[in-house]
Amino acid sequence: MNILTVKNLSKSYKDLKAVDNVSFELEAGKIYGILGPNGAGKSTTIKMLSGLLKPDAGTIVYENGQKIGKWSKNIGLVPQEIAIYTELTAKENLDYFASLYGLKGSERDQRVAETLGFVDLTDVKDKKADEFSGGMKRRLNIACALVHLPKLIIMDEPTVGIDPQSRNYILETVIELNKRGTSVIYTSHYMEEVEKICDRIIILDKGKVILNDEKMNIKNRFLDTQTISISVFQPVTAELQAALSAISGINDVKVDDLTISCSYQVSMHPLSHIINTVNNSGNAINNISMTEQNLESVFLALTGKELRE
Ligand code: ADP
Repeated sequence: MNILTVKNLSKSYKDLKAVDNVSFELEAGKIYGILGPNGAGKSTTIKMLSGLLKPDAGTIVYENGQKIGKWSKNIGLVPQEIAIYTELTAKENLDYFASLYGLKGSERDQRVAETLGFVDLTDVKDKKADEFSGGMKRRLNIACALVHLPKLIIMDEPTVGIDPQSRNYILETVIELNKRGTSVIYTSHYMEEVEKICDRIIILDKGKVILNDEKMNIKNRFLDTQTISISVFQPVTAELQAALSAISGINDVKVDDLTISCSYQVSMHPLSHIINTVNNSGNAINNISMTEQNLESVFLALTGKELRE
């Protein structure tokens, strides 16, 4: 079942097409990553999904074909800019957001307490948010979007500008939230985050979807290639280069004086064969290093551009 279906969505700012004919579906219970460099159109897309911005064209429907209207209470939006009241305590912030969603009395108290626990702010619930570290503010920002138990949580680059520990904590929180049944849209320009937590990945560039696939398919399609770099003690002979090139699973062999660089298909497991071939040639291995492909290289392969240009 889809919790969200987006068809031919477009939005321009004057002459700039920020979102250009974007379509995708979000299966309920999954974590989808929307990935793209700055300016790709991620925030504009998210603002339209959460009802903050009106599309120029296209349709957005939620569960059972519903339009945003009443369904918006099922959405929790974590904005990129931290949107908490720093003069209020953590608990007061959550009380406020809970009441915005119509929660009252003991139900509200229970949801607030549970959410504080979920983001690990119970111990500091009575401290004013302006005393919090950047990471704690981010966690409170997330909590404010969770307090009403939304079915769909939309997070706009929630880890920008925080320390690695808080970042990992947030990623774990997203995974935990998803285990409880919440569907997640997570935007980022960090490949490794999306690679870690998402089931499916949509890559946007210049307002257009350039890839939309299951993470596993993307890994199999683009990430099966690795490069091993072997430095040796004696110059590499043409025979050795030819012998390496003949190994099945090898894509390419480059030689530069005392360094051999082989790119190969991981699924073909040619590593031991490569190393034995070098050793048996009468040369000796000095050092080995590996370069693993990641989603960064997927973006490069698709667009010819580095992700963080
Ligand atoms: P991302 O979230 O991927 O960084 P955005 O959706 O914020 O991308 O922006 C997409 C494009 O639209 C960018 O070129 C940005 O400069 C432009 N843009 C975003 N918001 C506005 C706005 N309010 N007015 C004019 N241009 C905007």
